[in-house]
Amino acid sequence: MGISKLTTDKVKERMDIEEVIGDYLPMKKKGQNLWANCPFHGEKTPSFSISPAKQIYKCFGCGKAGDPIQFVMDIEGIGFQEAIKHIAGRYGIEVEEDETRTPEQNEAQNERESLLIALGFARDFFVKNLQTPEGKSIGLSYFKERGFTPAIIEKFDLGYALDGWDNLLNAAKSAGFKEEILLKAGLILQKEGDATRIYDRFRNRVIFSIHNISGKPLGFGARILTKDKNQPKYINSPETPVYHKSDVLYGMFQAKKAIRDKDNCYLVEGYTDVVSLH
Ligand SMILES: [Zn+2]
Repeated sequence: MGISKLTTDKVKERMDIEEVIGDYLPMKKKGQNLWANCPFHGEKTPSFSISPAKQIYKCFGCGKAGDPIQFVMDIEGIGFQEAIKHIAGRYGIEVEEDETRTPEQNEAQNERESLLIALGFARDFFVKNLQTPEGKSIGLSYFKERGFTPAIIEKFDLGYALDGWDNLLNAAKSAGFKEEILLKAGLILQKEGDATRIYDRFRNRVIFSIHNISGKPLGFGARILTKDKNQPKYINSPETPVYHKSDVLYGMFQAKKAIRDKDNCYLVEGYTDVVSLH
């Protein structure tokens, strides 16, 4: 992956530690520094300090320390280049790639990043399906019935999985995704006893995209609308290398700013409850 030195320099010049970490953590000012509960080890009293003057952070509990780029790498679990892209996106800095990308560099893109790209593709696919005749008559009408506005539907990446065994599989393969990655991302399944038979995990259901704190889709929840007694009401993505369920709270990405501003948070059970309250 080759992000140009110019882009990296622009990001380093523009980034501010208080803003970058503030996207993730509530911080309190005490003296010269800001303090937060460390996101890297469990604690109830803040030992995670942020120095705006030095543009570094340090945890006195677990020892994690670094600059804003290191923080994004650690909290998102991504590499240096991806962290630069992430911060560039936050500040609206255009990312220039070096033209000399070798096949080896392309392959070096790690598995985690491939999974996130595949999940992003699936999210876009489900969102687009909502505008098909089938998506409109079944999915969109359900969301409207729940009182969800077009803006809310867009904000939460609500979507629709068409009825059929391989709609996503075929679209993803045409777009160049390998079956192995789609399997690892939890998007497709192998038939028990016949690994050559693969099919979409989500079929004939409305889709709730589950985002990480920075808005990348990690997995999906899917609700059936037809009255089929043999099918579970909800199907969810499994645990994957990028989706650790105990680390993710549905709706946090959309709510984080308001939670910080109001210093208040309501927890409810269920996707539609979260979206309705929002
Ligand atoms: Zn710590």
